[in-house]
Amino acid sequence: MTNSTKTLCPYCGVGCGLEVTPPAQSGKATHRDSEGTPIWRVRGDRDHPSSQGKVCVKGATVSESLDKNRLKYPMMRDSLDQPFRRVSWDEALDRIVLQLQTVRFTQGPEAICMYGSGQFQTEDYYIAQKLLKGCLGTNNFDANSRLCMSSAVSGYIQSFGSDGPPCCYEDLEQTDCAFLIGTNTAECHPIVFNRLHKHCKKNRKVKMIVVDPRRTSTAEAADLHLAIRPGTDIDLLNGIAHLLMRWGKINTLFIDDCTRDFPLYADIIRHYPPELVARKCGIRLDELEKAARYWGDAERVLSLWSMGMNQSSEGTAKVRTLINLHLMTGTLGRPGSGPFSLTGQPNAMGGREAGGLAHILPGYRLVKNPQHRAELEQLWGLNPGQISPEPGLTAWDMILGLETGAVGFLWIAATNPAVSMPDLERTKAALKQSPFTVYQDAYYPTETAAYAHVILPAAQWSEKTGTMTNSERVVTLCPQFRHRVGESRADWEIFAEVGRRLGFREQFDFADSAAVHREFVQLTRGRVCDMTGITYEQLQEAPIQWPHPEENPDVGAGFTDKVLPTSNVTKSAPTNSKRLYTDWRFPTADGRAKFAAYHSRGLAEPPDPNYPLVLTTGRLYGHWHTQTRTGRIPKIQQMHPQPFLEIHPRDAQKLGIEEGNWVEVRSRRGKSRFPAQVTKAIAPGTVFVPMHWGALWAANSEANALTHPESCPDSGQPELKACAVQVSLVPES
Ligand code: SF4
Repeated sequence: MTNSTKTLCPYCGVGCGLEVTPPAQSGKATHRDSEGTPIWRVRGDRDHPSSQGKVCVKGATVSESLDKNRLKYPMMRDSLDQPFRRVSWDEALDRIVLQLQTVRFTQGPEAICMYGSGQFQTEDYYIAQKLLKGCLGTNNFDANSRLCMSSAVSGYIQSFGSDGPPCCYEDLEQTDCAFLIGTNTAECHPIVFNRLHKHCKKNRKVKMIVVDPRRTSTAEAADLHLAIRPGTDIDLLNGIAHLLMRWGKINTLFIDDCTRDFPLYADIIRHYPPELVARKCGIRLDELEKAARYWGDAERVLSLWSMGMNQSSEGTAKVRTLINLHLMTGTLGRPGSGPFSLTGQPNAMGGREAGGLAHILPGYRLVKNPQHRAELEQLWGLNPGQISPEPGLTAWDMILGLETGAVGFLWIAATNPAVSMPDLERTKAALKQSPFTVYQDAYYPTETAAYAHVILPAAQWSEKTGTMTNSERVVTLCPQFRHRVGESRADWEIFAEVGRRLGFREQFDFADSAAVHREFVQLTRGRVCDMTGITYEQLQEAPIQWPHPEENPDVGAGFTDKVLPTSNVTKSAPTNSKRLYTDWRFPTADGRAKFAAYHSRGLAEPPDPNYPLVLTTGRLYGHWHTQTRTGRIPKIQQMHPQPFLEIHPRDAQKLGIEEGNWVEVRSRRGKSRFPAQVTKAIAPGTVFVPMHWGALWAANSEANALTHPESCPDSGQPELKACAVQVSLVPES
């Protein structure tokens, strides 16, 4: 018998189940990494409902990274030009608490910020919210999820009245038409893609449409690839809507009974005749018509998207425009149908549930809603009015706050903004100006550690017990299965200890993470994300999908917000936790979903004669974010040894660039160098660079040295996906 543990992959939001076995007990031969060190054996958990035993290269190799370059004890220094010195936890925490009290007293709570991560477990997220938003009285908690999926959050909230992806992975195998836009699913969410691709291959009538300026491996597998010009997503979606209207392929019963504001939307899409749209998007008219035909002829349409839609200065508008198509065709709340955002990080979903962005509160509550604030103040034992009514600073706002001096205390945990934020030169200069930065992470060195005054060692996945929620709302328990490295502590334990030292003993009196979880799920009672029926004991048996209310776990969400019944619509599907909105009622004031009418504004920084190309950035199959883990795994390093620039042969020829030449890419903010890959996979006029390399891995080849911070006004998500650049050959390359 082996002593294996079931857990969840700590990389992407697909959330594959893993089964890990200690080196000495994993069978005949001890499992070793490429350097011969015994490591935990990892394989897919066949019982996990989301992944059914499958894993990609990242999940399969994750144990190789667990002991490399670990941060083992707290360190401190007085200024950035000094070396760090090892200190005790007491010394580090005393300094943090003193600094928090000083900044709170001299500048006010709004000068205190925390920048967290979708790598947190839900318990970490929750305690951070209680500390910042509850006890310290500032909503300045934001997470790197702001850079990843906040436009999906605001799109869902504005269209449906609540956050929450309404679909599940079974829909991948039940759809007639999969519409993938702004997502390289095959590389970035491979196990989701495998399920969909298998279904499409088995059923020739099922169509897959992929919208992407690059011919990615996802696009290669599609029935139809629309290589639109960057920034024309809304034009395309409105153009498809125009054709569906013209052909009468709309669900008037659903529109009349379950939605509002359709006339406003219909008025907008009148301005998107197919000829004009095809021209603007840079695709052929017949391609546009084919896309509309595939959607219109399908009974079940599933749309998938990720950063290509979200990372945009009109990200929320894009998401809502996509949702419009589902509303006008009534394709949601049914098997194989609905708008389905794919989250990037393993627990970005848990972060949303726990209120882990600057404008939200635990239990899918909103900072701006006085009732929501009052509920939490009562549940947390705080004074009325203690939670600020103002949304906090978003990730980029924190950088601006450092520049102006408005931010006096910055706590960064489990993320690496010195690689992942836009406009890196400006970001790094702002981090340098920070009066006091705490950096809490499992690994050292990282690019961001260079800007810290205090460094705290965090126990990572595998070394602490907590829960994570994947893109289809499945919650999985991730038990601690190995020793903690050095003096590291769980993130939530660190936050709770600081809370106690600040005087909030009662609020942070938790025996273990199970106690944190018990308190957290009570805050979800009656909310769309009701998890009151989920306990650690049950999770030890199997993962559980929410909504999962305590009273009736087999029946889905009941809403606290007033919902009026709709009429006349056939309500054939029972309500359950697999899908949201199966009764076609929505948690809005009148129970109806809302159409949104948007004209496209295009790119925030369109190309011009000085910067004639559009740079788009993205991820590669093997690497993960800023390589904190994957950069230390030889197999993945061999797959993707260095960054590169993809350029179309036509552009390359004009610039005298040949395959393998080093090129310099300049934007208005900075420059970087890459070897060129000349390929027709990228559209003319567009170039592509992967975003994984920071200064530690490839000095002078940072993608985000080039990107800009212009953000969506609703979601605050920066347009990391597109900026204007010039490319030139590096002499003698
Ligand atoms: Fe992990 Fe995502 Fe790969 Fe699944 S698809 S094994 S969750 S990285």
